[in-house]
Amino acid sequence: IRSIAVVGASLAGLSAARALRNQAYDGTIIAIGAEPHVPYDRPPLSKAFLAGTCTEDDLALGDPDESLEVDWRLGTAAVRLNPGSRSVTLADGSEVHADAVILATGARARQLPGTEGLNGVHTLRTLDDAVALRADLAAAERLVVVGAGFIGAEVASSARSLGLDVTVIEALPTPLAGPLGAELGAVCAGLHADHGVHLRTGVGVAAVTGGSRVEAVELTDGTRLPADVVVVGIGASANVEWLIGSGLDLANGVVTDAAGATRVPSVVAIGDCAAAYSPYAGGVVRSEHWTHALEQPAAAVATLLGERREHTAAPYFWSDQYGVRIQFAGHRTGTDSVRIVEGDPDQRSFLAVYERAGRPVAVLGMNQPKLFTRWRRQLSAPDPAPASAA
Ligand code: FAD
Repeated sequence: IRSIAVVGASLAGLSAARALRNQAYDGTIIAIGAEPHVPYDRPPLSKAFLAGTCTEDDLALGDPDESLEVDWRLGTAAVRLNPGSRSVTLADGSEVHADAVILATGARARQLPGTEGLNGVHTLRTLDDAVALRADLAAAERLVVVGAGFIGAEVASSARSLGLDVTVIEALPTPLAGPLGAELGAVCAGLHADHGVHLRTGVGVAAVTGGSRVEAVELTDGTRLPADVVVVGIGASANVEWLIGSGLDLANGVVTDAAGATRVPSVVAIGDCAAAYSPYAGGVVRSEHWTHALEQPAAAVATLLGERREHTAAPYFWSDQYGVRIQFAGHRTGTDSVRIVEGDPDQRSFLAVYERAGRPVAVLGMNQPKLFTRWRRQLSAPDPAPASAA
């Protein structure tokens, strides 16, 4: 392999370029990015950047002293992968030829249908989104957040620190019921209440109304919530439509094995766009977490360079809400039991362990970073599924 195209110039793409150089690849690297920006860090966008305590310069992921010798092609999206001719077609009609391709196109925020073009309604995925939202919040008094997931909760927390009146709408009975389960989701509900944020659960959005600018959010129970700004945080979809017809297996992401390999030779997929086999989940999962996008590319790069390597670390993410650090590692299912092993949820400082057949399969910490790290290290992948008889 003498030339590699990396499609997607963010955390996973940059980590892949670094891994290529660390693994002694000295050929050409061409990084194609739809956004005009050099790689930047997304987690602060809903936290310090939105709250105004960090600037755009603080978000840089690249290190000025590092010489990766990457040919950056920024501001133009890839529109087609042509495995036969080993090339990627860009939106401006140009072609990039490469012996191998690393797919790192990430994900985009899901929109709430019917809100297109309505001023004051935001999603948050990119730096440009964050700049626009920050400007809008500066002139606003009432914020309604749709979705109490990580992004929604963090936006609520940041907006509250700016003094806004904040209401969060969640369709499920508690925030974060999917990843954390209802019991600990209820503790996260308490965090919103502690800080004067109105949380309304078990209710949906019927309509977002306004003229050229948003005026209110109408709920399915008939409530009308006046709003100057609305943030929609209802999840993200993988950026993989451009790969339709390329021969790749696409199912809520580019399907890969645990080593990042796709169905097409010399093409690997990494980060938020990849639906990779996870021994923890016992199936294919699209991990949408920073640490995965940072660490998993090294394994996929090794695989691409001919030394197949599986990424076996337990899934991990964190979230910062109202000054509380929430950390989670492992994979839980609805039938796992959960117990508090240290601290007190009412004090917003505790460690909880999820167990299956008496074994810890996941761990959640709130403001317990040291203890959390110790438990995280003890998590191991469940025993592999027995090989099928076929
Ligand atoms: P992305 O960062 O999504 O980057 C993909 C890049 O590819 C984008 O620049 C996109 O424009 C580009 N692209 C897309 N399509 C094309 C195309 N066709 N051609 C060329 N380029 C293309 N994770 C945590 O664990 N903890 C947190 O606290 C946390 N906070 C977050 C807060 C926010 C506001 C957001 C948005 C995410 C947060 N995350 C957090 C998730 C984390 O940032 C992502 O997991 C990580 O950014 C994934 O990196 P990636 O490179 O795979 O994808």
